[in-house]
Amino acid sequence: MTTIAVLPGDGVGPEIVLEATKVLQHVGALFGIPLTFEEGIVGGAAIDRCGTPLPPETWSLCHAADAILFGAVGGPKWDSLPVDRRPERGLLTLRKELGLYANLRPVRLFPPLVDASPLKREIIEEVDLLVLRELTGGLYFGEPKGIGPAPDGKGERAIDTLSYTTQEIERIARIGFQIAAQRRKRLTSVDKVNVLASSQLWRRVVTETATEFPDIELDHMLVDNCSMQLIRNPRRFDVVLTENTFGDILSDEAAMLAGSIGMLPSASLGDGPGLYEPIHGSAPDIAGQDKANPLAAILSAAMLMRYSLHHESAAAAIEAAVSRVLEAGYRTPDIWQPGPAVLVGTAQVGDLIVESIAKG
Ligand code: NAD
Repeated sequence: MTTIAVLPGDGVGPEIVLEATKVLQHVGALFGIPLTFEEGIVGGAAIDRCGTPLPPETWSLCHAADAILFGAVGGPKWDSLPVDRRPERGLLTLRKELGLYANLRPVRLFPPLVDASPLKREIIEEVDLLVLRELTGGLYFGEPKGIGPAPDGKGERAIDTLSYTTQEIERIARIGFQIAAQRRKRLTSVDKVNVLASSQLWRRVVTETATEFPDIELDHMLVDNCSMQLIRNPRRFDVVLTENTFGDILSDEAAMLAGSIGMLPSASLGDGPGLYEPIHGSAPDIAGQDKANPLAAILSAAMLMRYSLHHESAAAAIEAAVSRVLEAGYRTPDIWQPGPAVLVGTAQVGDLIVESIAKG
């Protein structure tokens, strides 16, 4: 029996995770994969219930599970809390403590969505890239970190630290080269080498690691240029390897190549059980209105099948159903435009995907 820890979280998290769970249950039954689902609380929901964003029971559940399906955390209700006690800390701790250092964020344009993006068709057609974001180091975790008195005694000083070791860079670079080897064999390492010491080490270690992968074409790009090239010529990219914060920002930008942030799934892999979540946040502006696009969560469920359960045909069945439902013209508001497309809600999308998988 495979145990999946289900952590819906806050905002639209519960709505989209419900649909992804529905799809996993269906695919599990269809392919004879015995799955059990165990739900845990995390983020703001957990702060409200027990005063901490990652209660010990949720940690134990995740630690013992075969894979984790995650929604999103955060929202205005908890915005005034200090950063180390906010809902997002629950997710950051989970990633760090489970050793999930490799965050795979595929950016693929489903052809029926070519007009959903504000970008020109000729720029985004056939976009298929993957942002590989280092997830347990960099600016989000470096010490010292915090707010204290300013050294001159006038007001305060805030510090964040961007730190990486050779070993941390090497292990994520290896994953990047391995993924590139299964794709179009091109890896772009993104840094800020002209300003940051951490980027100097990053570039040197990535270049050294490249010697183990002679078939992969490596190039380096400054992060500011990369943010421009992603819009100017996104097809030039295959695998984009980068630091934690850079990857967070670049992948939200890249989401528009796929039409909406509601289309981008992710897998966080490393030492512990894989964690699968859409790249978007809790979208409090549309929470509880049946408006959220659940496809990023459903595509994350496909990644769960692929990377944690090693069940490629189940993953492919989910992805093919997403294509068919989009081809049939069904759209949540984020990807809908006036015309023949049918406007549908979150729950209906989940039902349509299940129906489409059943029909094959
Ligand atoms: P967001 O990603 O939640 O929303 C940004 C915009 O995208 C909003 O207009 C929202 O309506 C839209 N959107 C997001 N997901 C969508 C979906 N599935 N379908 C349709 N539209 C969608 O980012 P934000 O507004 O900056 O952050 C809201 C909260 O989420 C904050 O508390 C933030 O800290 C948190 N957050 C959590 C995560 C996470 O849990 N992994 C990631 C990012 C932000």
